[in-house]
Amino acid sequence: MTQHILPNAMLGILGGGQLGRMFTMAARAMGYRVTVLDPDPDSPAGGLADVHICSKYDDPGALQMLVDTCAAVTTEFENVPAESMRFLQSRMRVSPSAECVAIAQDRIKEKRYISGAGLGVAPFLSIEKAGDLAQDMSNHLPGILKIARLGYDGKGQIRVKTADEAKAAWEQMGSKACVLEKMLDLKIEISVIVTRSSATEVNTFPVAENQHESGILDISIVPARVPEAIAEQARQMALKLAQALDYIGVVAVEFFVLQDNTLLINEIAPRPHNSGHYTIDACLTSQFEQQVRAMCALPPGDTHLLSPVAMVNLLGDIWRDDEPAWDKLLSQPNAKLHLYGKREARIGRKMGHFNVLADNADSALQQAVALKDALKQ
Ligand code: ATP
Ligand code: MG
Repeated sequence: MTQHILPNAMLGILGGGQLGRMFTMAARAMGYRVTVLDPDPDSPAGGLADVHICSKYDDPGALQMLVDTCAAVTTEFENVPAESMRFLQSRMRVSPSAECVAIAQDRIKEKRYISGAGLGVAPFLSIEKAGDLAQDMSNHLPGILKIARLGYDGKGQIRVKTADEAKAAWEQMGSKACVLEKMLDLKIEISVIVTRSSATEVNTFPVAENQHESGILDISIVPARVPEAIAEQARQMALKLAQALDYIGVVAVEFFVLQDNTLLINEIAPRPHNSGHYTIDACLTSQFEQQVRAMCALPPGDTHLLSPVAMVNLLGDIWRDDEPAWDKLLSQPNAKLHLYGKREARIGRKMGHFNVLADNADSALQQAVALKDALKQ
């Protein structure tokens, strides 16, 4: 059995954005020390960590420092160079593994892996070179052309109706590897977060229902308003995928639910996920504590839902000229505000989120939407 890593140990994380910041807060609350590697001197997590190594993710000196000073390393984002993960992995405990991150960072590999594991994905064609544009696209149109690497929050995606539009869109993306995914008629989107510390120490969080705005997550509602059989099927699919990957750590699985209730896996994130921010206030254990636990070879904490909840993302859009009307939110006793300490508010930039806890999901959602509107006044 792997030795448990206990409080006072130094934990390393690649990336110091909001996910790194919430990881840092969870780890420090439990008495661990944290080293953040992030090239941004103002990163949201850097200032809260015990040590901030302000270097690039492939800087050999920085990586060696993690090896020398940390008991284990994790990541807050999938676009960390796979080479850096491999360097660390050959010298220390790293979770998730470089192999899992490499799959999650490339949509083509990811979709092939998921279907290879016997799980459904949206029909897709891979378009890696100009010649691939000659394939028959008729079964995949209208569709969405998605860049295979480095896309997020709907960036690197273009909706296309015809083969000519697909060709133009591919060139517009810089002729880089892409997938053409069939546009599906979605009934609802849901996600499941799995924590896996070993083959036998594994659990899931309650299923979240996700609503997007311009390709970016807007609201998550928990429990998801789907039949229990669908929720259970999603949990089983997420567990099956985590098992197939021999995944160690926290992994989020995003699902499409089609009109006939078919569940397809959209994509996975090898880390805590925006749709799991509700766990901070509404579950016995948060997804960030789970990340700490899994990297420290401790069993996942209990995930049961303490209260129905709605989570609202706060994007830079609502800052306009002024700060949002925080007093409106903070006057509401069942609303919990989380801000990421980012100085500059930009359109589409994730600045924070809030959770509203209520007696049922509909009421949480209704109050959350009203509070979001109130913030803009
Ligand atoms: P994020 O980082 O927020 O997860 P992303 O850039 O990785 O986003 P996707 O998850 O692929 O992008 O897509 C974002 C959203 O766009 C989806 O959650 C869904 O609402 C919509 N979408 C994506 N693909 C399809 C599809 N094939 N059919 C219908 N809607 C889709
Ligand atoms: Mg997504």
